[in-house]
Amino acid sequence: MAEEVSNKQVIFKGYINGYPKESDMILKTSTIKLKVPEGCSDAVLVKNLYLSCDPYMRSRMTKTDHNYIPVFTPALPIIGAGVAKVLDSSNPNFKKDELIWGMTGWEEYSLIKSTEGLFKIQDTDVPLSYYTGILGWSGLSAYVGIYEISCPKQGETVFISAASGAVGQIVGQFAKLLGCYVVGSAGTKDKVDLLKTKFGFDYAFNYKEEADLNAALKRYFTKGIDIYFDNVGGEMLEAALLNMKLNGRIVACGMISQYNLQESQGVKNLFKIVAQEIRMQGFMVSNYVHLFPKFLDFILPLIREGKIRYVEDVAQGLESAPAALVGLFSGHNVGKQIVRLASH
Ligand code: NAP
Repeated sequence: MAEEVSNKQVIFKGYINGYPKESDMILKTSTIKLKVPEGCSDAVLVKNLYLSCDPYMRSRMTKTDHNYIPVFTPALPIIGAGVAKVLDSSNPNFKKDELIWGMTGWEEYSLIKSTEGLFKIQDTDVPLSYYTGILGWSGLSAYVGIYEISCPKQGETVFISAASGAVGQIVGQFAKLLGCYVVGSAGTKDKVDLLKTKFGFDYAFNYKEEADLNAALKRYFTKGIDIYFDNVGGEMLEAALLNMKLNGRIVACGMISQYNLQESQGVKNLFKIVAQEIRMQGFMVSNYVHLFPKFLDFILPLIREGKIRYVEDVAQGLESAPAALVGLFSGHNVGKQIVRLASH
């Protein structure tokens, strides 16, 4: 007889408009059998250890005619990336007690009905939580944006918005390793200090204290920007466009300033793309999964040798998960926002 245990869950209440609120999610306790049911041939039953909070999850909360990722199902747990331990499995490639990361539920225990998109964790000499971020999608996003798309050369100038976040902090350090001049923007004094002291950015500024973003960028980029790594879109993108050098590159990683708007804003200054012969390229990190082995070979030694530093903002317990997710959209997180559920 399989053991049945209680299972705390964060349930998605229903589709929303505007900024997400904690009350859009409900905490519930149900029960779960710690065994993969008969008939599930490619499933794992896991204990969730860490959950990742990511801006893209907001787009799963609103149903539109142009969703780029499936929406959450009302009355079911929120789905997101996480680190978990296998308790039972019907797939011989995933064994009991192995550690994995990938898409899981916001609950203590999850039955994951397909192992597609789950990754086995091989290297455990680094913190396990890193697989929600620097060793997972956030790190790969930084890697793709820098090494596959913008390819900075020594001495080039790089600007990064939302620079202290999960992706931005890694992007800046990659650009520094390549010998670039790196400036980041962030929304508080503490984050600005972190960029300069911990992550080695050349300069950083608090965009919320700047009346004129164009003038702020001109202050730090007297000869212009070679690469803008855009995490926010909106007014910062408009200002960056005015400061791009000839043949500059813009990496369109994300546009968080637009995610909670009913209708996205237009972007001014787009003619600069023509006049300055700028290449602006977006990417979806999920289309670069094939690079994971190469990426891990690259970044694990850098982490072990202390050449890349990483800051996480750890919320404790499932109860704190809704506030942690909502906090991304007011800049509450300092570094990568995760939720710690249990140790393995
Ligand atoms: P994050 O930076 O850790 O957290 C979000 C941060 O965005 C907040 O801390 C806040 O920092 C800033 N922010 C929130 N609302 C803002 C607004 N209205 N205007 C300007 N800044 C705002 O998140 P992340 O995981 O690193 O993601 C960064 C971006 O990359 C997001 O746009 C995300 O969607 C995107 N992304 C894309 C891919 C892809 O495949 N293309 C993959 C991963 C992430 P401040 O305090 O500095 O304002």
